[in-house]
Amino acid sequence: MGEVTSVRVLEGAERGFATTRLDDLLNWAKKYSLFQYPFVTACCAMEFMGLASPRFDVARFGAEAPRFSPRQSDLLWVVGTVSQRNAPVLKRVYDQMQDPKYVLAFGTCASCGGFYDNYTTLPGTDKIIPTDIYVPGCPPRPEAVIDGLLLLQDKIARGDRAPAIVKPRSDIVSPSGLVPLGRKERA
Ligand code: SF4
Repeated sequence: MGEVTSVRVLEGAERGFATTRLDDLLNWAKKYSLFQYPFVTACCAMEFMGLASPRFDVARFGAEAPRFSPRQSDLLWVVGTVSQRNAPVLKRVYDQMQDPKYVLAFGTCASCGGFYDNYTTLPGTDKIIPTDIYVPGCPPRPEAVIDGLLLLQDKIARGDRAPAIVKPRSDIVSPSGLVPLGRKERA
C-alpha cells in the first residue's frame, strides 16, 4: 500500500507558510507544555524551590506549572532521597500519570541513592521506574537542573527516549576551570 499524504491549509496561510512533519509539530508542542508532578522528599527541595524562583525562572521553558494530581502531569520530578517505604508510592504515582510521561532524577540521591549505602534507601529511581534524565549533585545547582530540563526538551523534540546524564559544566570563573579559594592578595 502506498504512502498516504494529506495537505491541510491552515487559516492565515495566505500570509506565509511553513512545512513540517506532524510528528515534529507534536513533539514541539510536547516539549513546551510539560506539566510537572513534584515528588519531593528531602533536602534537594531547597534547590527545587530556587529553580522556581525569579532568579532562575523555570517558567521560561514552559515547565513551571505543577499539577498535584498524577493524572494531569507528564513530567515527574523525583527530588531527594527515596526510601524503600516511599518507593511503592513513587511507583504508583508514575503508573497513574498519562502517556507520554517523563522522569527527571533531581540530585544524586534520586539518581543512584547518593551516599546512603544502606538497606532503607532506594539506589536510584531507575530500579522501579524508567528514568529519562539524571542530574548529579548533592544538591545540584539550579543551572545543572536547567541543563537537564533542556536536555529532556531536546530529546522530546527528537523523539529520543534513551536515558541521559547532565554533564558538569566547566567553571567560567577562572581560566583553569576552578573557583579560586581564599582572599585576593592586596597589591
Ligand atoms: S542529593 Fe544531597 S541534597 Fe539532595 S536529597 Fe540527597 S543528600 Fe539531600
